[in-house]
Amino acid sequence: MKAVRFHEFGGIDVLRVEDVDDPRPGRGEVLVRIRAAALNHLDVDVRDGVSRFPIEFPHTLGVELAGEIEEVGDGVEGWAPGDRVNPYIMDTCGECRYCQTGRENLCLTPGFISFTTGGGYAERVVVKARNLIRVPDNVSFEDAAALQVAFATSWHMLFTRGDLRAGQAVMVNAVGSGIGSAAVQLAHIAGAFVIGNASSDEKLARASELGMDAGINHRTEDVVARVLQLTDDRGVDLVYEHCGGELFQKGLDSLAKDGRLVICGGHSGEVVPFDIIPFFRGQKSVIGSFTYTREEVKRCFDLAARGLITPLVHRTFPLDDAAEAMATMERREHFGKLVLVP
Ligand SMILES: [Zn+2]
Repeated sequence: MKAVRFHEFGGIDVLRVEDVDDPRPGRGEVLVRIRAAALNHLDVDVRDGVSRFPIEFPHTLGVELAGEIEEVGDGVEGWAPGDRVNPYIMDTCGECRYCQTGRENLCLTPGFISFTTGGGYAERVVVKARNLIRVPDNVSFEDAAALQVAFATSWHMLFTRGDLRAGQAVMVNAVGSGIGSAAVQLAHIAGAFVIGNASSDEKLARASELGMDAGINHRTEDVVARVLQLTDDRGVDLVYEHCGGELFQKGLDSLAKDGRLVICGGHSGEVVPFDIIPFFRGQKSVIGSFTYTREEVKRCFDLAARGLITPLVHRTFPLDDAAEAMATMERREHFGKLVLVP
């Protein structure tokens, strides 16, 4: 089969489209014919060697994929060739205290697609049957590949960690990103007042079409002043943060009293100053969030199957053009996900 691999860390030119042996499913595993694989910013960090994940060479990128089962290994029940599937991004132990208390995203010995299996930038991959999630018939492979990380991460942040309720005000940072645009959609159908920010008016216009109630251009406008204006000087109940840097402090300053800031990333600045006095006087909370559970993925697939949310696929590329796809992502001009179609 074809796989996009790299043998050393570096820029786009380290990627090679190579012929490799087809993987074989072992006991409890299935062979999946990959029909779509979505790109994530994590892929760039992994390729550059700054992801803080241990990598073995040669490495095949791609944590998010969808396809159909081609072959079933021994001992697999409930799955058959032809089934349309999306593997849960993690491989959890099922036995640790977190797995046993509904918090499998915090598993003490997790594996991850591509790090402990083959990756999605390939024609086939072997995954454990216990990690498969069924893709509804009316959700395309491209949409399925683009759904999990964006929407399940958003679900976990907004509802599980952030406790967002109908009628509350939420600010979504960077609405042009995959998880930003997903959060706008989920917060909108949950009945929240959705304020979003982005680096361009064009991205804000797209987010408005997805249900954003008010947009702020964080390059040209004062984010905190605009939030106060839009909320009768109260501030927002929840900030959805995944950027770090300046937007982290602006998010804190935009919170109402007793407000929560939920954060899952810090690409724009991983270590930031933090003003403690208004933080505790306003009884604010900063809440970390890491991935999501497979139940949350299933809920998002249910919403997609009912047409209530739409995974945004900006553009698809053949596997041979994986380098061009990554270059497109690094330019950050896209709105929605970039998807490889092997
Ligand atoms: Zn576990």
